[in-house]
Amino acid sequence: MAKLVRGFKDVFGQEADALTELETSARKVFKLYGVAELRVPTLELKELFVKSTGDTTDIVQKEMYAFEDAGGRQLALRPEGTPGAARAYIENNFANTDPVKKFFYIGNMFRAERPQAGRYREFEQIGAELIGSAAPAADAEAILLLKDIVKDFGITNYKVKINSLGCKECRPVYKKELIAHLSAAKAELCEKCRERLQRNPLRVLDCKICGPKFTQSAPKQKLCPACAEHYEEVKTLLRGKIDFEEDTTLVRGLDYYTRTVFEFQAGSLGAQNAIAGGGRYDGLIQSMGGPDMPAVGWAMGAERAGIARGEKPAKKYLKIYVVSMDKTANEAAFNVMQTLRTAEFVTLGGLFDKNLKAQMKQADKSGAGYAVILGENEAKGNYVTIKNLETGAQEECPQKELLNLFKLKR
Ligand code: ATP
Ligand code: MG
Repeated sequence: MAKLVRGFKDVFGQEADALTELETSARKVFKLYGVAELRVPTLELKELFVKSTGDTTDIVQKEMYAFEDAGGRQLALRPEGTPGAARAYIENNFANTDPVKKFFYIGNMFRAERPQAGRYREFEQIGAELIGSAAPAADAEAILLLKDIVKDFGITNYKVKINSLGCKECRPVYKKELIAHLSAAKAELCEKCRERLQRNPLRVLDCKICGPKFTQSAPKQKLCPACAEHYEEVKTLLRGKIDFEEDTTLVRGLDYYTRTVFEFQAGSLGAQNAIAGGGRYDGLIQSMGGPDMPAVGWAMGAERAGIARGEKPAKKYLKIYVVSMDKTANEAAFNVMQTLRTAEFVTLGGLFDKNLKAQMKQADKSGAGYAVILGENEAKGNYVTIKNLETGAQEECPQKELLNLFKLKR
């Protein structure tokens, strides 16, 4: 029998609807913020991710779907969106033509992780990259952009955490302190963290095994005056617009972050509680061979956002199910369906090869509020019978009054 690959999944029903609703919310809010779509390939040179995501990260060390193609190229399915966006920014020479760019992307990402609830090997990310501004306003805008999408989509139960990781001036000082602190307890570190301790001790705080052991005792980052001022300004711009908590142990999984980092966490997701995360990555574009361009961005896990919101409570459109009782009414019923759609009523039905009972059963299952029923009498008399599927009440209505009647019920 044909079978799915482990860790991959088919998406349909409520889950697929939620992804589409999230994409719709996101596109609407992106437009309000002047953020334009960027579509880049799903496949890139493996080296791109090794150099940008970072070779001390879990993503590069063990989660990438990397392979050699027939031409001997080392390729990888993208595990995240930022490296491709940064590559596109550099290769298309935007720095010279139009350096301040606000991009969004919507696309599938691939990570060979242990599958569990809210963690898949192929998943969708919606992300934003605001390139070209070093101003604290760009950090605040990125965070509020994410908040507005989450709000429009309908997630209510979430927390926002922020932190500053400092810059190339103050981070090395902190790294040294952290290495000293963690080295003293080396025996308690997992194997991976022991390896990456010298090169990237911040990763230890983000490790699912070691992080919780050290978050309390670890020394706190001391920001240089420029970073401290930047961080204060970001917080000032956010106050009154979004509730946030400062968390000095928030370090994020990727290597390229500088200064502001943030995460949106949902209460209901257990260990997979991060619905979105991001931060400033001022050094990345230059380190990839591009110009010295500051940037800030984030990525949201679309499936996790769907789980965090749950099923949508309110029906946006009135759903109507159209039933034909016999052959002589099929054409009239079909025409009624098309008419209802012109006024943006979600119109279901059309199973005119099934008998009345089977069609009514489908109508009840469909989630529609009303059934519009036509038989020989209705077709000849140019009227319809309307059944309220919740109460069972029935009424008759001339066909030409149908749209007005439903507009009143909407
Ligand atoms: P986590 O700590 O949960 O592994 P992460 O730090 O690896 O998350 P990012 O690389 O920042 O996550 O990706 C941004 C978002 O993408 C996450 O907040 C999450 O919602 C989602 N995400 C990450 N990995 C997966 C996955 N394997 N399956 C589904 N969603 C994911
Ligand atoms: Mg991860």
